[in-house]
Amino acid sequence: MSLIVQKFGGSSVADAERVFNVARIVTETYDKGNDVVVVVSAQGDTTDDLIAKGNEINPNASKRERDMLVSAGEQISISLLAMAIEKLGYPVISLLGWQAGFLTSSSHTSARIRRVTPNRIRKELDKKCIVVVAGFQGISRYDDITTLGRGGSDTSAVAIAAAMHADLCQIYTDVEGVYTADPRKVPNAKKLQDISYDEMLELATLGAQVLNNRSVEMAKKYNIELEVLSSLVKAPGTIVKEKSKMEKMLISGVAKDTDVARVSVIGIPDSPGFAFKMFSKLSTKNINVDIILQSIGRDGKKDISFTVAADRADEVKSALKDYIENIGAKDMVCSTEVAKISIVGAGMESHAGVATKMFEALYDAQINIQMIATSEIKVSVLIDKKDADRAVTAIHEKFFAE
Ligand code: ADP
Ligand code: ASP
Ligand code: MG
Repeated sequence: MSLIVQKFGGSSVADAERVFNVARIVTETYDKGNDVVVVVSAQGDTTDDLIAKGNEINPNASKRERDMLVSAGEQISISLLAMAIEKLGYPVISLLGWQAGFLTSSSHTSARIRRVTPNRIRKELDKKCIVVVAGFQGISRYDDITTLGRGGSDTSAVAIAAAMHADLCQIYTDVEGVYTADPRKVPNAKKLQDISYDEMLELATLGAQVLNNRSVEMAKKYNIELEVLSSLVKAPGTIVKEKSKMEKMLISGVAKDTDVARVSVIGIPDSPGFAFKMFSKLSTKNINVDIILQSIGRDGKKDISFTVAADRADEVKSALKDYIENIGAKDMVCSTEVAKISIVGAGMESHAGVATKMFEALYDAQINIQMIATSEIKVSVLIDKKDADRAVTAIHEKFFAE
């Protein structure tokens, strides 16, 4: 007998028919003699709708109350799924995050899981119940409901799998696995048989939303193999694990992130200490800076451009305003009309010319590159947002056309 954790995303439980479809997958797994813990997200667009409802009442509401509101989405889906499983004639119980033992930090709307104490889950499994757990939520040490950040149910599932030493952790979604690009945008994207944690972590961080990046981080840390597969089509999915057979593949995927802002500070004095002082103003506010580009000094002045998450752009502007005036910099320009396109692959470490191939694809498509960043297993470029989809298609074509 094995312990299997199965996670179903919002589209997999979007309506009654889909809820019964999930109930059938779960009960088939149970019928094979397994203990089954199911983690579910809110139905369809419920989380977006709840956020919009909250904003209608008070766009400046406290994060505590926002968490109280959005966590309701998962309460609906766990109870509906449990009702469907009951109807099929199986023993089942639904549990909220706190009942399932999720203790988190108290940073509301982006809480981190501190510990999972699955005593209640174990007790229910011992009674031969199927256990349905609300993803995305937990409780802080102040007994307040918290949520883990968008897409956080993946992390809930991996955390349970880690805490309970599950034999398998399956992430069911609305596509058949992890592809070489978003299959909804690039129709000839290829499904990967497997992918390493490191590559998946980069892809997820750089915009491939099929898995939440924190779930991959946790899977790597606790060595939990993940299987990403479709809840609608019976087909082998993608295995995410330490070592991938695909190591010989030059790149494993292309990702797009349009949630980016570019900030340029123009006319900074070209002498030591200015970059340090500027970026320390951002780090004290916990603002992560991604790509950084500095021009060569000319006439005693230089320019520095960098990218941040789009929703932090206003904070950057207010954090730097006084400093920029004090040092006599000429201007600060901010744009959210940009996108970051990345290629990821363990194979590029040992192959020259990968970046060149990517740049050639962009040149062929007449797309201008604003900034470039590289690491051992990725190359990212910043381009105009309007060119983003065209860029992904052109780069994908260059690397994956047969
Ligand atoms: P869920 O609701 O199941 O958590 P998400 O919407 O969060 O599902 O993630 C699945 C979506 O991720 C897919 O519908 C697909 O459009 C998108 N996606 C982006 N990049 C990729 C990729 N490389 N491989 C597979 N899906 C991807
Ligand atoms: N319902 C949450 C969201 O929409 C969590 C999740 O789907 O994983 O972000
Ligand atoms: Mg998701």
